[in-house]
Amino acid sequence: MLVLGGGPAGSSAARLLSTWGHSVRLITRPAGESRLAVSIPPSCHKLFDAIGVGDAIERAGFVRSTGNTVWWGRPEPRVETFADGARGWQASMHVLERVLLEQAAAAGVAIEHRAIGAGDLEPQLARFVIDGTGRSGVLARLNSVRVYDDGPRTVALAASWTRDGDWPVPDDTHTLIESYESGWAWSVPTSPGTRHIAVMVDPQRSGLVRDAPAREVYLAEIAKTSAFRDLASAASCIDGPWGWDASGYRAVQYAGDHWLLAGDAGSFIDPLSSAGVKKALASGWLAAVAVHTSLTRPAMRAHSLGFFSGREQEIEGHYSRMSRLFLAEAAPTHPHAFWRDRSDSPEAATHVDTAAVREAFERLRSATSIHLSLGEARIEPHPAVRGHEIVLEPAIVCDDGPIRFVRGVDVVALRDLGPRFAQVPDLFDEYCRTIGPVALHDFLFALATAVARRWFVSQ
Ligand SMILES: Cc1cc2nc3c(=O)[nH]c(=O)nc-3n(C[C@H](O)[C@H](O)[C@H](O)COP(=O)(O)OP(=O)(O)OC[C@H]3O[C@@H](n4cnc5c(N)ncnc54)[C@H](O)[C@@H]3O)c2cc1C
Repeated sequence: MLVLGGGPAGSSAARLLSTWGHSVRLITRPAGESRLAVSIPPSCHKLFDAIGVGDAIERAGFVRSTGNTVWWGRPEPRVETFADGARGWQASMHVLERVLLEQAAAAGVAIEHRAIGAGDLEPQLARFVIDGTGRSGVLARLNSVRVYDDGPRTVALAASWTRDGDWPVPDDTHTLIESYESGWAWSVPTSPGTRHIAVMVDPQRSGLVRDAPAREVYLAEIAKTSAFRDLASAASCIDGPWGWDASGYRAVQYAGDHWLLAGDAGSFIDPLSSAGVKKALASGWLAAVAVHTSLTRPAMRAHSLGFFSGREQEIEGHYSRMSRLFLAEAAPTHPHAFWRDRSDSPEAATHVDTAAVREAFERLRSATSIHLSLGEARIEPHPAVRGHEIVLEPAIVCDDGPIRFVRGVDVVALRDLGPRFAQVPDLFDEYCRTIGPVALHDFLFALATAVARRWFVSQ
């Protein structure tokens, strides 16, 4: 097995495959000093544990964040604290990479440090090649499957700042985000007293393409902000700015007969989502599951690779819609073209059946008893992940794809149980007893969805 790239996606896939008994070689560029600092949400806990690196991440000493402070389309901050006291990570990318590579090596992965080009690839030497080379996308470009977003390009400029004393923010572990006239700015702490401060700008409209020094453009952009101007005013810029292309792209196909694109090699989502690392870890994990299944159960190969490709496509679509919705929220306050160009997508509409689900929910809530009979749903076997394999399981066939779970509730099992009960509490108890415990509000949402989509007919 050959894995290209030792970022979150490549290291995770390599580590898991090696743990499951495969022989894995990983080739990645010599360890550099990636200057990027990223904010990683608490929901990555489960992924770090699934990849087997949870303890190593805890020991790495990253600043732990308790939430976000956001000035988004308005001057007052919105202070968002992670639910239930959960904490995320503020990670320097080169440290995160080092920790993940060490964990891959400890699991038996053979690591070579060198840059690889498309011409160096000898795919016949490996039964599978996983491309985890991020934006370089060595295999994605070789296979001509990458497409760039039609919209304007976005460049990130970031520098490291230090300050004696406290930063003028409600909580200095927080990720800070501010929308301003011609872009948006964000900041994460990298150690006590040090923060990365970044601006996202349109290179065409910010002066970058006219060869103005990046530092000049960077400081001019910060001067246009409000909260960030205060943040920088009593601080000193100690390193940078550095620049990154942050324009979006995706793949028309994420897997082929002997290859998969994991993480940013497949698609790049707006950094506004703070979900790039999470997406890369999940993608690396799923790539490992798909490759493991293909090698151990060849009859499942086409299903596994198709499932991986479909999931990657769906995830990219989901985050793109979420980012456009978020950008559209601030756009009315900023009449600049930066915002107009990035927020006018018709696809930013919310899910079509929200109103129907709400109406079904109200009907179920006010009914003294329920009488459910089976509706129009067709059930067919579809790929699903079980442990570290992809298997075929029954799912409800819908226009927007097969569905097995709604908010963690098994709707195929619910469909079997539903017609046997006249009271929602009895149906809920039986579901929790025989299928597994779920939260009542998730159960009611799943039941309302089943009625709204006519998988059940309710009298
Ligand atoms: C400005 C900016 C801000 C961001 N902020 C956040 C954030 O706050 N939170 C978040 O979750 N995500 C953020 N992201 C996104 C996040 O960094 C990526 O989504 C994530 O790192 C993707 O992981 P990956 O493993 O797919 O790719 P990468 O992290 O890009 O790793 C690719 C690896 O491949 C290696 N490589 C590349 N080319 C070659 C080659 N030719 N030969 C050998 N090796 C090669 C690289 O050295 C690297 O080790 C941000 C991105 C940008 C640009």
